Amino acid sequence: MTERLTGHTLLISLIATPIRHSMSPTMHNEAFAKLGLDYAYLAFEVDNSTLKPAVDGIRALGIRGSNVSMPNKQAIIPYLDEISPEAKLIGAVNTVTNKDGKGHLVGYNTDGIGAIKALEDEGVTVKDQSITLTGAGGAATAIAIQAAFDGAKELYIFNINDDVFENAKETAKKINDNTNCRATVTDLADQAAFKSAIQKSSIYIDATSVGMKPLQEQSLINDPEMIRSDLVVFDVVYAPRETKLLRFAKEHGAKKVINGLGMMLYQGAAAFQLFTDEEMPVTYIKELLFDE
Ligand code: NAD
Repeated sequence: MTERLTGHTLLISLIATPIRHSMSPTMHNEAFAKLGLDYAYLAFEVDNSTLKPAVDGIRALGIRGSNVSMPNKQAIIPYLDEISPEAKLIGAVNTVTNKDGKGHLVGYNTDGIGAIKALEDEGVTVKDQSITLTGAGGAATAIAIQAAFDGAKELYIFNINDDVFENAKETAKKINDNTNCRATVTDLADQAAFKSAIQKSSIYIDATSVGMKPLQEQSLINDPEMIRSDLVVFDVVYAPRETKLLRFAKEHGAKKVINGLGMMLYQGAAAFQLFTDEEMPVTYIKELLFDE
């Protein structure tokens, strides 16, 4: 790995906190090495208070691109020169390019693309489907917008009545104003409505942080009647690889259960393409990092 770094090596960064657990540096560096690309990818602990100097640093050092994660996905927008249409609608950026190192920073969001590609990889299409989605944060918004743009017919969004609930309403309005998909938002406390939405859906996506530490013992579905043999259940969490929801769905005969690893891989692959104009060798990366 170190041998291939030279005075010409181009740097890609990842700015977020906490970030040391991230799989992205390994994923990108292994892909660069496999393709013989003279790039390196490093993670930096950056929060909102150090974000502005970090972005100045990207420009000053000619860092060729960056991934952006929590808590900087929304906060970085005012510091960029251009925002892609999907990132504008989602209201969050997870990938920034600095083409030719000239300091013109363009923000993109590849989370939604990654989620839809992960479903496609499992033979699941969102086109013309009715989908129930729990969540209204960064991941959920990206998935909702992308699914609507990719032709989903109906999107039943549920969230607890917390500080992102209003966000869900805004997302539904954007979807209803800009696409043919019909989106509704309901408080997750209305369990009868949640059950009824799942009954009308072919795909259930949980894009909340439930299932991940410290909520690893929780699942938003605990009623066996809500799982059917024609229901696909997708949980965006990838640590643990099998959340309580996925275990429950598998035990009660769901058509397919999908964890967040594929989303993680394909959001990275889309970012890799933006950084390098090359396709990430996804089969190789999948075997290397994800196969147990
Ligand atoms: P966020 O903080 O923006 O949103 C969190 C969401 O979880 C909100 O909708 C919130 O209302 C909901 N929530 C929190 N506690 C809850 C509870 N007790 N009951 C019901 N809902 C609850 O976070 P985010 O960035 O959207 O990330 C959400 C999840 O998605 C995380 O687990 C994250 O690891 C995962 N994620 C995965 C990928 C991937 O590539 N697979 C990418 C991004 C995020």
